[in-house]
Amino acid sequence: MMGVMDDALDQAARLIEQADALVIAAGAGMGVDSGLPDFRGNQGLWNAYPALGRRELGFAAIASPRMFRTDPRLAWGFYGHRLSLYRQASPHPSFALLREWAARMPQASFVFTSNVDGQFQQAGFEQDAIHECHGSIHWLQCARPCRDEIWPADDLVPDIDTEACHWRGALPTCPHCGGLARPNILMFGDGEWLEGRSQGQQGRLDAWLARVEHPVIVEIGAGTGIPTVRHFSHLVIHEHGGRLIRINVRESAVPTPRDVGLPVGALEGLRRIARRLAP
Ligand SMILES: [Zn+2]
Repeated sequence: MMGVMDDALDQAARLIEQADALVIAAGAGMGVDSGLPDFRGNQGLWNAYPALGRRELGFAAIASPRMFRTDPRLAWGFYGHRLSLYRQASPHPSFALLREWAARMPQASFVFTSNVDGQFQQAGFEQDAIHECHGSIHWLQCARPCRDEIWPADDLVPDIDTEACHWRGALPTCPHCGGLARPNILMFGDGEWLEGRSQGQQGRLDAWLARVEHPVIVEIGAGTGIPTVRHFSHLVIHEHGGRLIRINVRESAVPTPRDVGLPVGALEGLRRIARRLAP
């Protein structure tokens, strides 16, 4: 077993040494080493938010435009708490390792992430080289929405009763119509998400991918439950000749023998690859 892992780590290091571009594809598992909750299954969510457990509300129920309509203080209790959590979280050392690898590549790097936590920006990645495919908790929009406009959440100061998952103060409002505001995040059953910012990011990503020749995808903590990130990794393999390093504790199988799957957490996987890289 150790021998198999050693071979996989050597192969991963070679893929990074040979690439001209680093594609970072990150799912929820990327935040775990920073102490951020992973909402896999209801139990993970309910451990982090017992008030939701008492009401048996799963992730698809709380993360929905419907909840902002029917119980905005509960919905904002959930998102406001996460906003505070993500503002305070320090990106774990994986982010610095990925920046070092990006610096080796002639075409540098681009991030594709389903995470809405803003951790890549916080870790110093270029704003223009990040695609947040599900939006960002650090931006707000009108819940209606009355117009096609979003604004930063920087001025928002959450005041939450954490035990009850309840937003206490005045609810965030749209500066144009005065109606309820919500995070600019793609939720479940969401026909109101304003995707302009994310589309702009995708346009920059597509232009960058058109320039690269030998991209290596480092995919981290992206599960099959919501497979957006995995679909993207496979697209880079098929359409841009990419090779894949998949770091995933539970689901590390890879499409071809030229790709590498490592059944470990983000930080452990990246550190072990880093030790095998030529200086
Ligand atoms: Zn509005």
